[in-house]
Amino acid sequence: MTVITRFAPSPTGYLHIGGIRTAIFSWLYARKHEGRFILRIEDTDRERSTREAIDVILEGMGWLGLNADEGPVYQSQRFDRYREVIGQLLASGQAYYCTCSRERLESIREHAMQRGEKPRYDGHCRDRDAPGENAVIRFKNPQQGDVVVEDRIQGRVTFANRELDDLIIARSDGTPTYNLTVVVDDMDMHISHVIRGDDHLNNTPRQINILKALDATPPVYAHVPMILGPDGKKLSKRTGSASVLDYRDQGYLPEALLNYLVRLGWSHGDQEIFSIEELIDLFDIKNINKSAAALNPEKLLWLNQHYLARCDNVRLAGIVSGFMNDVNLADGPELTDLVEVQKQRTKTVLEIVEQSRCFYAEFDGFDPDAAKKHLRPVVQAPLAELHERLSDLNDWNETDLQSTIESVAAAHELKLGKLAQPLRVAVTGGPVSPSIDATLRLLGREKTLARLDKALEYIQKRASS
Ligand code: GLU
Repeated sequence: MTVITRFAPSPTGYLHIGGIRTAIFSWLYARKHEGRFILRIEDTDRERSTREAIDVILEGMGWLGLNADEGPVYQSQRFDRYREVIGQLLASGQAYYCTCSRERLESIREHAMQRGEKPRYDGHCRDRDAPGENAVIRFKNPQQGDVVVEDRIQGRVTFANRELDDLIIARSDGTPTYNLTVVVDDMDMHISHVIRGDDHLNNTPRQINILKALDATPPVYAHVPMILGPDGKKLSKRTGSASVLDYRDQGYLPEALLNYLVRLGWSHGDQEIFSIEELIDLFDIKNINKSAAALNPEKLLWLNQHYLARCDNVRLAGIVSGFMNDVNLADGPELTDLVEVQKQRTKTVLEIVEQSRCFYAEFDGFDPDAAKKHLRPVVQAPLAELHERLSDLNDWNETDLQSTIESVAAAHELKLGKLAQPLRVAVTGGPVSPSIDATLRLLGREKTLARLDKALEYIQKRASS
């Protein structure tokens, strides 16, 4: 059997990390079995589907490297086919027109609620099958027996047909509904494995019944639990974003998010770090956890740091530069050189960006707290001497920079840190930067000396005020 999986998002908002995790699982499963992975955009709800949401899906998948073998297939372009299948179900007596009024349906609903039951359509039109104005089309669900879903994650789940009512498969304007389009597409695309969120588990018996009515073999189903926020509750912006592209914009690398999401809810022993090749090799649906997993931002950061430190400098420089449009990158060190230093000591791309602007941007003053603490009159003389020694330094390399700083510190009987930190604030404006020798090397002589001048001016002013 050829494995064919699919990711079938509805383009009605952002790309959810829970959704993308089912896409990753589907993609991995197809790759593992040398099968095919299809991207299907479920945009039949014309009011809620937007072009922006489609672009976000494509962008997110591209960013994570989830290439599809087919698609995007747009359901909105398959209406003729859905109509054809609905016609087929009507012709074989497995679907019927229903003209029940809204009031009637509402009263059924109210009665059910009063009895504390789930509202179900009572089959009033089932044997009348009268097309009419505003008629919807309903699927004739079997009334006896059970539907058994042998879910690869949830185990066996049995639904009694008498609990399922006759589902609307076409609205009164003729447009098909979700359960019908999913079934037609899964059938036409020969989907072998449906891996999707467990919010769809309740749709599965209905979909199986329609597939059977069409003489199609149902695919294997695997319903993946949700991702919860770090507090064990529903994910919210406040506790950890649910949007894939937010993670990109917050400076996470795609391989870190992918590794994190796979591992959250799937395991292979205690292993935490997986290359894509390893995932393809090791992934199996049966090792997906049955219970919902809570997002752990610390662990994601840890993984990001891991991948950041190993990221190719040219690639990383490309990513970092995308966040630094506000400075002129020609006015500072080679970005590849800078990221080589920064990636060893930061956790996200954004952290690199924040701590790298000072190497390029016009100097826009000192961080007030850092200046107050470190640019004090006691360091005036040593900084002045450093200025002199650094102007005369022959070769601007880390070893010579370091020994110059050390010797000035010794001459003034200062511990190295007592000079290095004021120097850091002087040349970068703030208290955080790479090691002081690397910071000066990357800044270059000109910027270093000009900023030392500014720092000395600041200290002078402070001393005289
Ligand atoms: N379009 C559905 C959704 O976004 C998914 C349908 C499916 O995977 O069967 O929730």
